[in-house]
Amino acid sequence: MKYIGAHMSIADGLEQTVIRAYQIKATAFSLFLNNPRCWTTKPLSNKVIDMFKNNCEKYKFTSDQILPHSSFIINLGHPLTEMLEKSRNALLNEMQRAAQLGLTMLNFHPGSHLQLIKENDCLKRIAESINIILDKTNNVTAVIENTAGQGSNLGFCFEHLANIIEYVEDKLRIGVCIDTCHAFASGYDLRTEESCIKTFELFEHIIGFKYLKGMHLNDAKCKIGNRIDRHHSLGEGNIGKTVFSWLMKDKRFNGIPFILETINPMIWIDEIMWLKLQEKRLQHKFK
Ligand SMILES: [Zn+2]
Ligand SMILES: [Zn+2]
Repeated sequence: MKYIGAHMSIADGLEQTVIRAYQIKATAFSLFLNNPRCWTTKPLSNKVIDMFKNNCEKYKFTSDQILPHSSFIINLGHPLTEMLEKSRNALLNEMQRAAQLGLTMLNFHPGSHLQLIKENDCLKRIAESINIILDKTNNVTAVIENTAGQGSNLGFCFEHLANIIEYVEDKLRIGVCIDTCHAFASGYDLRTEESCIKTFELFEHIIGFKYLKGMHLNDAKCKIGNRIDRHHSLGEGNIGKTVFSWLMKDKRFNGIPFILETINPMIWIDEIMWLKLQEKRLQHKFK
């Protein structure tokens, strides 16, 4: 069984994301825990926390189905001490917010070297940041997302994610989320079933499915390997629909949230319905 949903806006309040997810027939969703482009953040009120938790109960979403996304300004591998500290504090704050809301995962992009330090030093710095944050929190798993590799962003190859995991002390609270658009942009082919099999064989070999905590399902406006992060609706971009149908049929991806970050929220309900149908078709095949 797959959990399928999309990234919900917090514009009308954090607690509304649950209702919105329910309205588009989602069984999973993601959300920001504060303004994603802002350093300052006010504490969550008890009222918001209660409403969010009540909505989750009412609309039947458990923490396994919700994968919050951190703000974009955080850089856990920042070469400069002051900004590194700021980033670590901001992610720690988001991990604490996740815990307050009863959530057990937080998805974030690894970090960027900004051409000031070596790749490997930056990866170590990212892992060190995660160690510090995990040390100060309980129950929330740090979920690193693969990136498209735009600019000096790290995490665009499976080896980067594996390296970070290697340096992280608490292996039970570290995981990864694979974004199909980012993977494609960074050179992993997903256009045919054969290429999907090959890409996820590599994934299993280098990282391992036991670390997979979520997937971001996005088609790509960008070309394979051009390291530009441009999402598209399923089947509208250069990856095509095959990978999404393939993912729905592969049991190794069961029990984790599949999150759409596709560009047209108006058709999320259709995209979710189509994805569910792919899974159902497989069940019929084996009846
Ligand atoms: Zn992301
Ligand atoms: Zn993503």
